[in-house]
Amino acid sequence: MKEYMRVPFSTFDRMHSKIRCELDDAYKSVVDSGWFIQGNECRKFEEAYASYFDTNYCVGVGNGLDAIYLSLKALGIKAGDEVIVPSHTFIATALAVAYTGATPVFCEVYEDTYLINPDLIETMINEKTKAIVVVHLYGQTAEMDKICKLTEKYHLALVEDCAQAHGATYRGKKAGTFGDAGAFSFYPGKNLGALGDAGAIITNNRALEEKIRALANYGSTEKYVHMYAGNNSRLDEMQAAFLKVKLPYLDEWNEERRKIVEKYLKGIKNEKIVLPVTREECKNVWHIFAVRCMERNRLKRYLEENGIGTVIHYPTPMHLQGAFVKLNHSKGDYPIAEMIAETELSLPLYIGMTEKEIQYVIDILNEFE
Ligand SMILES: *Cc1c(COP(=O)(O)O)cnc(C)c1O
Repeated sequence: MKEYMRVPFSTFDRMHSKIRCELDDAYKSVVDSGWFIQGNECRKFEEAYASYFDTNYCVGVGNGLDAIYLSLKALGIKAGDEVIVPSHTFIATALAVAYTGATPVFCEVYEDTYLINPDLIETMINEKTKAIVVVHLYGQTAEMDKICKLTEKYHLALVEDCAQAHGATYRGKKAGTFGDAGAFSFYPGKNLGALGDAGAIITNNRALEEKIRALANYGSTEKYVHMYAGNNSRLDEMQAAFLKVKLPYLDEWNEERRKIVEKYLKGIKNEKIVLPVTREECKNVWHIFAVRCMERNRLKRYLEENGIGTVIHYPTPMHLQGAFVKLNHSKGDYPIAEMIAETELSLPLYIGMTEKEIQYVIDILNEFE
């Protein structure tokens, strides 16, 4: 038996200790500026983020859910419309659709990559279909060539949920730059995370940028002039300042995640554990390292007993969530999403993870019987 060790599912300590002085300076400069909403920090971060993607515009917003919702709303999605979303994702993707009044229509995913299956999308398109929200889940991009062909053929809007894919690419092109809008979350645990809630939208469409910016600020383009019944979803100066500190490290951190996962993929050898697959065209940024196991709950307990933290992403598929009872789905409607919900387990993966920790997780997994 290996000597007992504690390996958390995730920790910020090691990432933040390296940039602590820069974060402290950012905090002080915002406090000293006396300006906390919609100022220079936000504008500078938006410029830096747009430049990272080589897109024309970036709009900072309050969180990732709003980034998707505001994009759809600005694209004119409304009650009576249908929007196709993957059957397996975090609930925010489908909730953002529901907030516009439109109906989320779930489309099954591949079991090996966990991503939306474009060959099935076409069978779900009808006159009511107005948009697709693709999700680049766990750090890997969906099959964008096939998806872009569909959106062209059927004149559908395309929003990319990039909450788990900052810096991921498909055939060398960055996630978020394929659709009308790329929606990002900077929830602390994401590959690029704020120290609180935050989000952003990138786009090359000027009219869309202006409309999203207005919708996120009470529907206003000019103080006290309200064109639309908008929301309050602004990126605050403190979070923008922290994000500006972290952005230059994003590529390096993504590379570190890839190195950790390379070791997992090489080291884990247990026929009870199914490893995730990355398609050749994709550069995965590994937001999550998701394995599958028929005895998932027993595996989770076993790892816990051995000091290893894990998380299930996600235990209940969306079509069976209370939030969507109105859609009248039942168990069996999306067998692949249901299978993933029953078998998925995410392993520890964080910046600063040591060789010893990685090897410990591999050894303990290989001893599972
Ligand atoms: C985190 C996440 C969101 C929502 O982001 P928030 O900032 O928490 O609102 C949306 N979609 C996916 C796939 C996510 O992982």
